[in-house]
Amino acid sequence: MSLLSDLGARRIINARGTVTRLSGGIMHPEVIAAMTDASRQCFDMSELQAAASAEIARITGAEAGYIASGASACLMLGAAAAMTGLDAASMARLPQDGPRREIIIVRSQRNAYDHALRTAGANLVEVGLPDRHAGAGVRDAQGWQIESAITERTAAIFHVAAENAEPSLPEVVAIARRHGLPVLVDAAAQLPPQANLRRFIEVGADLVAFSGGKVLGGPQASGFLCGRRDLIMAAALQHLDLDQYIDTWTPPDTLIDRRRLVGMPVTGIGRPCKAGKEEIAGLLAALQLFVREGDGVRHARWLATLAAVREANTDWRAGMSIQHEADNDRVPHISIDTGSPEVARELTRRLLSHSPAIHVDDSERHHGRIILSPLALDVEDAAIVGRALDAAKPGP
Ligand SMILES: *Cc1c(COP(=O)(O)O)cnc(C)c1O
Repeated sequence: MSLLSDLGARRIINARGTVTRLSGGIMHPEVIAAMTDASRQCFDMSELQAAASAEIARITGAEAGYIASGASACLMLGAAAAMTGLDAASMARLPQDGPRREIIIVRSQRNAYDHALRTAGANLVEVGLPDRHAGAGVRDAQGWQIESAITERTAAIFHVAAENAEPSLPEVVAIARRHGLPVLVDAAAQLPPQANLRRFIEVGADLVAFSGGKVLGGPQASGFLCGRRDLIMAAALQHLDLDQYIDTWTPPDTLIDRRRLVGMPVTGIGRPCKAGKEEIAGLLAALQLFVREGDGVRHARWLATLAAVREANTDWRAGMSIQHEADNDRVPHISIDTGSPEVARELTRRLLSHSPAIHVDDSERHHGRIILSPLALDVEDAAIVGRALDAAKPGP
């Protein structure tokens, strides 16, 4: 029926959400059409990225934008850009060496994805004692702790966007401005609300990374940076294939202003973050679609998917609730109270042995809850999940 099933790769039903280990979500036909169209032609990649930059700028309010293979890739490129600026010699020295390789991060914001910054060669300087998170106090990091960690080796301040992140982004921006440092923001999973596409830039972030493969609905292996033109230029210079003669190198000024360079850098640290013309086209189509659809219609679409799960199901309805049903700023989901951690675990196991395997979010199984996300489900799969839940109900 299809290449992948012929090869024995079994499809799954993904009620977990757009996680990478489950291959992300499903793409809108318009996104697929944009990718197909791109795949039938060739482009000069610097022109394609310049066009993407202008469109990302229009949508985010930033000066410029850039597309790579994921938000993590963008964080790596952003870190590299902050560490080198437009200095080609520094670019060539990454990741082992360079004059400014420290990036300050609030200790409570450390997470597995910050590997991306370290991959570029950054040394993370942790600040703050988040005793609140240990249940032993009331504090997270404070502004003065960031400020006192700044030295001549500091390249940037990193901020992982979250509703209650401390210090707040405006506070971090104010500190960075006093010291002429860029603020790099991980906003990979900060959609919805749609307003966040502009919010971090509006409050003064210098570079913001978003994932293309999550709620945006773009290709799974895509993400974009938006922010200051000079930093985007530094990222582009470390990502583009620059294997050509300088006298025939004519990238668009809007992406790469050659007058600002003393020479042509060699192919840089960003090469493993390659995004093809198909990812670029797909992500731009997804971004346009995302903005056109709007939070309200999107939320209603997700609720309709969840309703399809609920309507196909009888046994669990009493314990089923829809979370964030009236909150357009969040992704709604179904929470099923199974009664105990053991039942939640058994239910998860039985759904996994369904054919096709059904993956749910079991991160709250210790509370006896199973969560179903609408993000990667179509309405047909939603009905299958609803029926499978009945069939999988552990007996008394
Ligand atoms: C998902 C995620 C990333 C990585 O995004 P990709 O597009 O998958 O590379 C980075 N940071 C956070 C906080 C995320 O949730």
